Amino acid sequence: MGFSNDIIFQGVIDYLMDEMDYLDITVNLWIKCMTLYELDGGKVTLLCDNDFKRNLFMSKYIRDVTKAFMVELDRKDIDITVITKPELEERQKKAKEKEEKERKEAELAAKRREELPMVNPAYTFENFVVGSSNRVAYETSLLVCRNPAEYYNPLFLYGPSGLGKTHLLFAIINEILDKRPDFNVVYITCEEFTNLLIDSISKKTDPTEFRSKFRNLDFLLVDDIQFLKGKRAVQEEMFHTFEALFNKGKQIVFASDKHPSEIEDIDKRLSSRFSAGGLIDIEPPDTELRQAIFKRKADSYGVEIPNDVLLFLAENIKTNIRQIEGAIKTLKAHSLIGGEEISFAMAKRVLSEYLKKAEADNINSEKILKYISMRCGVKKEDITGAKRDAAIKNARHICAYLMRDMLNMTFKEIGTILRRHHSTIMDSCERIENQIKTSETFRREMEEIKRELEA
Ligand code: ADP
Ligand code: MG
Repeated sequence: MGFSNDIIFQGVIDYLMDEMDYLDITVNLWIKCMTLYELDGGKVTLLCDNDFKRNLFMSKYIRDVTKAFMVELDRKDIDITVITKPELEERQKKAKEKEEKERKEAELAAKRREELPMVNPAYTFENFVVGSSNRVAYETSLLVCRNPAEYYNPLFLYGPSGLGKTHLLFAIINEILDKRPDFNVVYITCEEFTNLLIDSISKKTDPTEFRSKFRNLDFLLVDDIQFLKGKRAVQEEMFHTFEALFNKGKQIVFASDKHPSEIEDIDKRLSSRFSAGGLIDIEPPDTELRQAIFKRKADSYGVEIPNDVLLFLAENIKTNIRQIEGAIKTLKAHSLIGGEEISFAMAKRVLSEYLKKAEADNINSEKILKYISMRCGVKKEDITGAKRDAAIKNARHICAYLMRDMLNMTFKEIGTILRRHHSTIMDSCERIENQIKTSETFRREMEEIKRELEA
């Protein structure tokens, strides 16, 4: 409505009377009883009392009034809609109800957020960079978030520390808080669960309160479940909590640094439940994914990092994504304080402390030899010696492969250390690569060895 709409509509009426010879009586009866309710470009909405008046207007006057609007507004795309007062009231009522509903939802969401202070709102699905090593984890998390208790229950996410498990749990929660604020979602770490249980057993708090909190909810996420190791009473409680929720058709998500079978000293019933829904792993990211994560993190910190620096970082920071954030922050701080632009040379210098100096001191061929000899239970001298026992040969193959893979050494260089012809080294590397391709257990073992070496 409003003042300018009135003026425009008056202009339309004047046009009808002056240029189209409308009579006073017609205008008074059929046109002036309307108001120009809304004007949006060429979209005109007129308001009238009732259906009868609208029908008459539509059959007799719409063409002329459209023409008058075209002249008055000086545009050709006039499209008139007429609404009646009862329709408007209905519309307003609906808008109000919607607003009210949204307000209530926002209030509820805010309250829920307050109950989940640890959940970082920035850890969303959008902010999670997806690559081949974490795609399945990402997709299943999204799936259980959108279809609770339908596909994977429980969902058990596992993988080494710092690869985004907690991020995915928070992403699930953030999406639920956004889209389903009526949903009672609870996040807890295994340690907090333990503490609360101890409090309730030692009667510091009401024990029924503990149970009712964990058994009357819609969606439970338990982080760092590997800490259940050895805690029988906690395991027992977790098991019953799980059963209660599962039987009510509620979704449960666990995250763990370890595969269920690797969590020692744990109730068989519980670990079989862990594996019964969806057992999904996250693997260390490849260079490409690390680079993408670096890029994303840099963007989110408002830091511009040239591509060669991104690649340098991705090649040097390998195991843990948490370090990626640290590296970006370090770079940002240095460029802010020193006023120096982030360049390859600058990054190299600043991060030399920060980085795992792989080639320099941390991992070298000697370290690989020592570690593998220990792990395979063969003497170091035998690996570089002439013996041809199966165990020794195997250790030799692994060493060759690791030197190639982790240190980027040439076959020749490796040959010098292991005292073999370079074609033999090539054979060894190929052998291990094939084994990695054909055996999942072997592949995991190799990954573990690399992590240990990098630690
Ligand atoms: P975890 O729980 O597996 O130990 P976190 O979820 O705490 O690891 O992740 C560590 C850090 O790395 C967090 O800051 C997280 O946002 C970040 N991170 C991990 N994976 C990704 C990813 N794919 N994309 C973006 N950030 C990630
Ligand atoms: Mg975590």
